[in-house]
Amino acid sequence: MTDTLIAKVTSGFESKFGYQPTGVWSAPGRVNLIGEHTDYNEGFVFPFAINRHTFAAISLRDDSTIRVASSFSPIIHQVDVLAIARNEGNDWAAYPFGAAWAIQEMANSLLKEFEATGFDCFIESDVPVGAGLSSSAAIECSVALALNELWSVGLDRRQLARVGQMGENVIVGAPTGIMDQSASLLGETDHGVFLDCRTLEAESIELGFAKDGLELLIIDTKVAHRLVDGGYASRREACERGASAMGVTSLRDVSPSDLLKAKEIMDDATFRRVRHVVTENDRVLATVESLRTNGPRSIGRLMYASHESMRDDFEISVDELDTAVETVLRHGAIGARMTGGGFGGAAIALTPIEKISEVSLSVIAEFEALGYAKPEIFVVSAAQGAKREI
Ligand code: ADP
Ligand code: MG
Repeated sequence: MTDTLIAKVTSGFESKFGYQPTGVWSAPGRVNLIGEHTDYNEGFVFPFAINRHTFAAISLRDDSTIRVASSFSPIIHQVDVLAIARNEGNDWAAYPFGAAWAIQEMANSLLKEFEATGFDCFIESDVPVGAGLSSSAAIECSVALALNELWSVGLDRRQLARVGQMGENVIVGAPTGIMDQSASLLGETDHGVFLDCRTLEAESIELGFAKDGLELLIIDTKVAHRLVDGGYASRREACERGASAMGVTSLRDVSPSDLLKAKEIMDDATFRRVRHVVTENDRVLATVESLRTNGPRSIGRLMYASHESMRDDFEISVDELDTAVETVLRHGAIGARMTGGGFGGAAIALTPIEKISEVSLSVIAEFEALGYAKPEIFVVSAAQGAKREI
């Protein structure tokens, strides 16, 4: 698969730009195993890089023009490397442009001598778009890794994660955290990235799914995220309200034993939002601990507890996600939960290999019986982070 995509991205580059690229860099998408809506509360997350990648074929140019193209659309987008502006039309090119802008910002502040030149870039990807698997971070990180090398900037992977996030925040205009880029850059085969979103310290934790006869299924419900409805923003506001009621700067500083007090001083809805974040942070820590001491079969109950908390306390699930989770658990999955920001997107199911087909077929049948759209179901494994391919 990787070889085919490298060949495709190289020939895509050649047919668009008429010469060979200097190299091809890849970066994976990611799935979040546990730790939802904890990142912007300075809490813990535990994602892993998946075996689906974006490939960026790139060559520097002699002038200051950036040209980007993708198998995604026939248009070549062009901008001057020194004049990358905030995206107006929400076009996909804002992702590679954003990476190019942010790496310059960081290079200018860190290096005495730095001069950005233009480049040509062609993008090919097998990360599903908009399924909550972070096709966006995969683009940013592949391009950032390439430019770091080609422009001789010398940033480390943590700095590159920040570059990806800055580009997405400022140039794309999406107020996302640093989880996606950290997973895409710091991932290791068969390991999860345990990330403290306050200190940005990251630790690689062995997952051991395959060794224990398990696989992680993604069930993409095809229900589009409805983040624009304001659900995401209102959850963020509730978290801020809860933190300020508790006299702390972020919910990271509220512990499970503080919840009794929290219940007394805030309205019920705000309290339940707070309880989700506080207990979810605890579940991330428990998942890491449980993996280390008892192996992956022990984390199923924590995954389901996370789902219940998102469904009942944070109220970000939808019927399709609840149905997917309940159905896979009835048919042999060890643990399951919705993953990502909520209001649609995908569920994950930790499943014994011999149950994969029964679990998958049961979800398809249940969705059909309920008149839901046909879900897309596939297995992912934990892959190595971004790298140069050729
Ligand atoms: P997610 O990161 O969960 O997949 P986002 O909305 O953050 O969803 O990012 C998806 C956007 O990234 C797409 O709408 C598109 O603009 C861009 N994108 C993803 N993959 C590609 C690709 N292969 N080529 C061009 N643009 C892409
Ligand atoms: Mg994204």
